[in-house]
Amino acid sequence: MRNEFLPYGRQWIDEDDIQAVVEVLRSDYITTGPKIREFEQAFAQYAGAQYAVAVANGTAALHAACFAAGIQDGDEVITTPITFAASANAVLYCGGKPVFADINPHTYNISPDDIRKKVTAKTKAIIPVHFTGQPCDMDEIRKIAKKHHLTVIEDAAHAVGASYHGRPVGSISDMTTFSFHPVKHITTGEGGMITTNNEALYKRLLLFRSHGITRDNAMMTRYEGPWYYEQLDLGYNYRMTDIQAALGLSQLKKADRFLQRRREIAGIYTEAFKNMRTVAVPFQQDGCSSSWHLYVIQLKLENLKCGRREVFEALRKENIGVNVHYIPVYKHPYYQEHGYRDITCVQSERLYSRIISLPIFPKMTDEDMHYVIQSVRNILVRNEKG
Ligand SMILES: *Cc1c(COP(=O)(O)O)cnc(C)c1O
Repeated sequence: MRNEFLPYGRQWIDEDDIQAVVEVLRSDYITTGPKIREFEQAFAQYAGAQYAVAVANGTAALHAACFAAGIQDGDEVITTPITFAASANAVLYCGGKPVFADINPHTYNISPDDIRKKVTAKTKAIIPVHFTGQPCDMDEIRKIAKKHHLTVIEDAAHAVGASYHGRPVGSISDMTTFSFHPVKHITTGEGGMITTNNEALYKRLLLFRSHGITRDNAMMTRYEGPWYYEQLDLGYNYRMTDIQAALGLSQLKKADRFLQRRREIAGIYTEAFKNMRTVAVPFQQDGCSSSWHLYVIQLKLENLKCGRREVFEALRKENIGVNVHYIPVYKHPYYQEHGYRDITCVQSERLYSRIISLPIFPKMTDEDMHYVIQSVRNILVRNEKG
């Protein structure tokens, strides 16, 4: 057994990243200086978008996008239960109501058919989440949005570098949000970004990031002198520092190399597990190029003598940092106590009961990878029904 715990995801920081940070620390600006603009421009280009706004974290990015979309008291926003709580919490921050549409049992992404069933006169937006990095069915989601005049905010926290029918994620919808948490594709410690092609949304995102305050003459109601600024809306301090932006810029240069390694690991896992009776490997939709933030196996419990929990605990005993992504959001006590007790998304709950996320991150060695494969195979073969 390996001595060192193998996490499911981890950053990759090199000497050049450290140097980029140190340079900013020695400079005049350590927050909202030139590195923010540079990082935003580089990221916008990477994601194929016209504008990008850097913020403090991925959750702030979702909050800002919901604000820019005009989500208010009583508005409904449709999202998936198979996501990190932040995708739905951002709607609550604005006074809106998250409405959960079930997943497609093959892709594990939000089902356009179920979105159609959940649209009401109060629906204002859809937040599709590209779970594991595989893009959602954006053509269908866009059709629904167009028909009902809804804003689409893609939660692309898993999807830096993913593409949908050749188009980079970040270039497709009204707004797309990203996270730079250390387990994600590139990191700034904490950090997030929103991309958009819409100038009006871009301006609202900038306002929201910094208290709702502007110094832009064209936006102000009056002008009292060179010191003058105005608070036009209730924003937050969601700014990213230049220290973080410098790290992000340095990391972004490696995004393609990191992505290539993630895809390589996913390919090797799939080859290793695809013919086993006890496990289903991730299904990949035609036209969707995943960025493989997560590698999720689904246990075929009908062919196993034990449950998911036993397999999970056996892997943890081997010092493998497996995880479960995700507990359906509405199952959390907070949601249960706030009106979601009678909600059931059958496919999401079924998936939740059968999945395990295996370690996948660019710095993983071949040895790490083969250790995971051997351990998974041993445990599943040992517990296979005859
Ligand atoms: C990581 C993540 C977020 C939140 O990002 P933070 O930077 O941690 O705030 C939101 N949605 C999804 C799907 C995520 O995985």
